[in-house]
Amino acid sequence: MAGEPQADCLFCKIVTGEVPATVVHETDTTYAFRDINPQAPTHVLVIPKAHYPDAASLAAAEPKIAADVLHAAGQVAAQEGIDGTGFRIVFNTGTGAGQTVFHAHAHVLGGRGLQWPPG
Ligand code: 5GP
Repeated sequence: MAGEPQADCLFCKIVTGEVPATVVHETDTTYAFRDINPQAPTHVLVIPKAHYPDAASLAAAEPKIAADVLHAAGQVAAQEGIDGTGFRIVFNTGTGAGQTVFHAHAHVLGGRGLQWPPG
């Protein structure tokens, strides 16, 4: 069923604690932890606790939770002290865009200059 935990999903396992992660923020609906392969001094992943395969399907099914993810991303940026200098929120959506984990997640990146356009 939509939103239910998936046994084979890495990020569902991080939410339950089965796979360890460095958690930096949590709400009733969201979870945020440091990326294992950081691409910037701050690189945090913000996910919905519910399982949706990507940001677009999350927003279509649960717009309130999608908004919660964005709100949490802003709170993480403030907590990390990157809100003053600027930061990026990225939702890779689909394999062609570089998505490798199919549980919706926002990358929160900052702490260095960020180029545009991204690669
Ligand atoms: P995507 O490529 O799907 O947009 O992003 C997936 C992200 O998950 C990547 O940046 C990758 O480094 C991160 N990642 C993959 N496996 C793990 C893990 O086991 N723990 C953590 N904390 N991050 C992971």
